[in-house]
Amino acid sequence: MSQLASEMASPLIFEQGQEGRANRYFQHGAPMTDFLPKETLREDLPVPDNSELDVVRHFTRLSQRTFGIDLGFYPLGSCTMKYNPRVNDAMANLPGLRDLHPFAPDELSQGALQVMYELERSLASLFGMAAFSLNPSAGAHAELAALLIAKKYFKDRGEEKRTTVIVPDTAHGTNPASAAMCGFKVVSLKSDERGRVGVEDLKKVLGDDTAVCMMTNPNTLGLFEDHIKEITDAVHAAGGLMYYDGANANALMGNARPGDMGFDLMHLNTHKTFTIPHGGGGAGHGPVGVAAHLVDYLPTPVVRATLRQASDSDATAVLNPPGDNGQGRPFASDSMTFALDFDLPKSIGPMRSFWSNFAHAVRALAYIYANGAEGLTKVSQLAVLNANYIRVHVAEFLTTPYPEICRHEFVASAQELKKETGVRTLDIAKALLDRGYMAPTVYFPLIVPECLMIEPTETESKETLDEFIAALRDIVETAKRNPQEIMDAPVHTVVGRIDETRAARQPNLRWTPANS
Ligand SMILES: *Cc1c(COP(=O)(O)O)cnc(C)c1O
Repeated sequence: MSQLASEMASPLIFEQGQEGRANRYFQHGAPMTDFLPKETLREDLPVPDNSELDVVRHFTRLSQRTFGIDLGFYPLGSCTMKYNPRVNDAMANLPGLRDLHPFAPDELSQGALQVMYELERSLASLFGMAAFSLNPSAGAHAELAALLIAKKYFKDRGEEKRTTVIVPDTAHGTNPASAAMCGFKVVSLKSDERGRVGVEDLKKVLGDDTAVCMMTNPNTLGLFEDHIKEITDAVHAAGGLMYYDGANANALMGNARPGDMGFDLMHLNTHKTFTIPHGGGGAGHGPVGVAAHLVDYLPTPVVRATLRQASDSDATAVLNPPGDNGQGRPFASDSMTFALDFDLPKSIGPMRSFWSNFAHAVRALAYIYANGAEGLTKVSQLAVLNANYIRVHVAEFLTTPYPEICRHEFVASAQELKKETGVRTLDIAKALLDRGYMAPTVYFPLIVPECLMIEPTETESKETLDEFIAALRDIVETAKRNPQEIMDAPVHTVVGRIDETRAARQPNLRWTPANS
């Protein structure tokens, strides 16, 4: 590790070149600039003349200066950082899917359209919704889509007075942000002492201005809302719609369905629940689902399926015509053809260019089919078991403010430790980096002081969980013995403790040549 740290001082790749270096191994090799389009070359930004070995070492080193799920345990609460099976990528890389042009006509895109149709059917069946649109590019993007749907729905009903969105304080920050972006007024709802939405508290804020109540379930404390039916009934009685933030579906899938609980709208983060690499702001995928009364508002395009009957050329039937509520719609078969439908008069329109982050749809479907219904059910059960296993052990040395069975994640607090030793959650997080772990989510949710939010996922072994618990225990014990040691962490990582305020306020993101 210390060797890596010293390498940090090595010059940037742009500063390493020397004339003629590129020719070091292949004596007749030409300089790199011979291979670049002339119009991209700039006199004020010379292309360095590097040897291939230097370039390989530079990028290999860079790849090791980051932390990812492929390198170690990543218990980042709320983010579901689980192993991304390589078979997903193999499927997304099938040339017929990978190389398809987004403007290819439907008759040449039948396989891709079938993937979209089958994923849509799978999600609808798994979560009990009438239909999904695969269009949005992330969870927050799907929240916005759902709220646009709600807005249009109320407009069509002449209920434009419905201008408020209720968001419990245990929701993800994107919920109020999406509602505000959509022009709604946000009403925050305080959770009760059990970390859940109180039905009586909710009733007090319901009214004829209520448009939507957004619920995250399990919520960001990792707790399952236990009065869901009363909550959805109360919101419906007030004329509002219920929204299910399904980002935590890894605790749920195959075991309970938002549609059955009375939700009208929901989203999924396939990049979380359905094993697609994510983080670092990379491409996401956020299908938005609706109950039957909202299907006409889904973003366009929608994949339509038509049953082809070989014996009788007239006898074709669109299996999901406009207004279709999804019920009884079959999975794809050889006798179906598929087409993109852009012509939905009530639709909120497309949320993005082209049809979706299509490669992610392929990955999600590959994961669903590799597991099967029983496998997906077990995934969620194991995710819950792993979280509870860590929770009961962590309770031996940190406070767990909601000490009951959790779902896929739980929160702990270092408030007591801070009083006793001065060591804060932030210091614990840094000390975990030193011990080779990604830190959990910290200081979120905001309602728990000195919060650590831990989500192990089902893909980790018991040994890994035990090692993590031991590392956390060691940090707490060290803090009691020698708090400064924890406050100085990390000392083994490439970058030590940074000035976080300065990094956020004055980020230095641009390389400038040393000689400028
Ligand atoms: C991750 C998450 C979101 C936002 O999803 P993105 O895909 O990051 O936009 C919303 N709600 C919850 C509960 C989440 O965990």
